[in-house]
Amino acid sequence: MSTVDGAGTVVRAELSQTLREIEAAGLYKRERELTSAQSAHITTTAGPALNFCANNYLGLADHPEVVAAAHRALDEWGFGMASVRFICGTQSQHRDLERAISDLVGTDDTILYSSCFDANGGVFETLFGEQDAIISDELNHASIIDGIRLSKAARYRYRNADLADLEVQLKASAGAHRRVVVTDGVFSMDGSYAPLPGICELARRYDALVLVDDSHAIGFVGATGGGTPEMFGVQDQVDLVTGTLGKALGGASGGYVSGHQEVVDLLRQRSRPYLFSNSVAPAVVAGSLTAVRLAREAGELRERLAANATLFRSLMTQAGFDLLPGSHPITPVMFPGEDGARRAAAVADHMLANGVYVIAFSFPVVPVGRARIRVQLSAAHSEDDVRACVDAFRAAAAAVG
Ligand SMILES: *Cc1c(COP(=O)(O)O)cnc(C)c1O
Repeated sequence: MSTVDGAGTVVRAELSQTLREIEAAGLYKRERELTSAQSAHITTTAGPALNFCANNYLGLADHPEVVAAAHRALDEWGFGMASVRFICGTQSQHRDLERAISDLVGTDDTILYSSCFDANGGVFETLFGEQDAIISDELNHASIIDGIRLSKAARYRYRNADLADLEVQLKASAGAHRRVVVTDGVFSMDGSYAPLPGICELARRYDALVLVDDSHAIGFVGATGGGTPEMFGVQDQVDLVTGTLGKALGGASGGYVSGHQEVVDLLRQRSRPYLFSNSVAPAVVAGSLTAVRLAREAGELRERLAANATLFRSLMTQAGFDLLPGSHPITPVMFPGEDGARRAAAVADHMLANGVYVIAFSFPVVPVGRARIRVQLSAAHSEDDVRACVDAFRAAAAAVG
């Protein structure tokens, strides 16, 4: 690296200033290092902790069968692919995983990406151009926002889960050639579901496609883990589904777009993150295949997750905490008002010191005055773990006041 004065010195001084501003605004993010595998029971550099902030909904991140499948794949399929899919980066198991995901979500076909961020980055530009319109929920994930930016289509935004405003935007976008309504299946800061039946009904009326990013639902929402379209009984009305392997389905990495055959076939021809980025690693593919199988077969994992979420909600409500209503295992514990951000952070700190790891969120991640601790339940938690979390909330709230 150059040590002489020059343009670099100026840029680095500017960056230091930006970093100080982030710090002064209380927005500086620090990584907490785990010194164990991802699980309900972890250790961090702060000591042992019960983990209530992972997206490890089914507890598959360190599941023995998933780990064993990944071990076997290292021996059988090697470590890396050193190729994109269409050159020499497709093993039989990549196609097996795509078929397994199609079966899970009830679609014709599926195309894998390195992440759901990439899936959302590669889907809009390929399918929607200048003549088209994309109508997107205001709370959609950052990767959807970025993916839409890459497309030349006209953009319309509707208020979160607001069907009346969606209809206004559908009317405003009249005249576009192709139209698509885009929504997260589950909004991650609230644990709320998109109103898919109403969205599909409006989309049908205005002749628009529907795309659902089901990252926070795939594998555990719906009777067979097929996600929010399955839960709402609208699988046949949703045209495109995107999702991640990095949450309930083992939590390693990888994402997908799933849908009609022509859509997936065209994405294989034109979608840039698919064409120009490496294949998902063999051990991750094998572990994810096992995770998808376990998610489908193991109804008891989904049941335990639902039971834990219900128990947590009822104990916390009894204890007098203010929860956002809902049923998803994302359970926001609210700390409203001016002092909320400080209180939420103090409660989370107190809880970690007592061995329960939760994260407080405040502005700009959530609206001003709507600070919260987002608790995420897992099938890997025991009933005692859930009770310990509630006890830690009680003790922390008493200490913080
Ligand atoms: C987590 C998440 C993503 C990103 O998934 P990765 O596979 O980690 O890139 C995309 N969309 C939504 C809605 C998510 O919750």
